[in-house]
Amino acid sequence: MHKPRTHKMLLELGTCCGNVCTNCPYYPKYTKGVRMTKAIFKFNSGVGALLCSSCSIIIKEGKEYTPVEHEASMGLIEMQAQYCKECEEK
Ligand SMILES: [Zn+2]
Repeated sequence: MHKPRTHKMLLELGTCCGNVCTNCPYYPKYTKGVRMTKAIFKFNSGVGALLCSSCSIIIKEGKEYTPVEHEASMGLIEMQAQYCKECEEK
C-alpha cells in the first residue's frame, strides 16, 4: 500500500520518482528522473497569480496571463516552472 505523498514531500525528492503520484509536481509529470517542476499558480478570491517556483513571489497576476498561462492556471494543460528575474539569474 502506497500512501500518497504530499506535493512538498515530492519536491524534497528533487526528481520525479515516476510512480504516477497524485500530487506529482514535476514537468512533464510522471517522468522518472526529471528535475523540472510545474509552474505554481495560486488563487486569491477569484484573482489568479503565477508564482516564482523558487521564492514564491508573484510574477504575474491573472489579468496579465497569456492564453497558455490562463489554461495552465485552470489545470487544462501543464506548464513548466516559471521564475522571477532574481531567481532566474542564479
Ligand atoms: Zn524567485
